Amino acid sequence: SRPIVAIVGRPNVGKSTLFNKIAGRRISIVEDKPGVTRDRIYAEGEWLNKYFTMIDTGGIEPASDDIIMSQMRRQAEIAIETGDVILFVVDGLEGITSTDKEVANMLRKANKEILLVVNKIDTPKTPDTIYEFYELGLGSPIVISAGQGLGLGDLLDEVVKHF
Ligand code: GDP
Ligand code: MG
Repeated sequence: SRPIVAIVGRPNVGKSTLFNKIAGRRISIVEDKPGVTRDRIYAEGEWLNKYFTMIDTGGIEPASDDIIMSQMRRQAEIAIETGDVILFVVDGLEGITSTDKEVANMLRKANKEILLVVNKIDTPKTPDTIYEFYELGLGSPIVISAGQGLGLGDLLDEVVKHF
């Protein structure tokens, strides 16, 4: 079966945007309830003739502020269990948060390939602010703008290296 790329990260960091860009089309699942659309959780991806399945762990449970951390813990566990490669997405405009640090600690203990993805860097020139992300102890940050479609080729090169 295809390798699994699991996307994990706080609400609003841009996981769904990245997922949709890699999947290459706007996709949503309409739930049983009329009028309710939810983000899709699974999609197939391809890069340089290598095929994989993506999981957007952020779509697994609806977000509610008071349970963000327990939800994040669960999503990180799912990513660790299922992912061959884990994309840990953080917000390059907001910087590191305590939730990012906790999730990074969980991921670091897992024996999986973790790629630290700093999103929302919307300019071609990488700002010095991204250096703070080395603190998470997950290696060199991969800088992208999912919104603008910047850096996605370099990210996918890194992803498929680990299959
Ligand atoms: P998720 O909750 O992690 O799935 O995040 P979403 O993909 O829903 O994005 C949350 C918000 O961040 C939305 O308003 C997006 O338009 C915005 N966003 C996503 N990617 C980028 C980006 O690369 N740059 C900027 N400036 N905003 C982004
Ligand atoms: Mg989402």
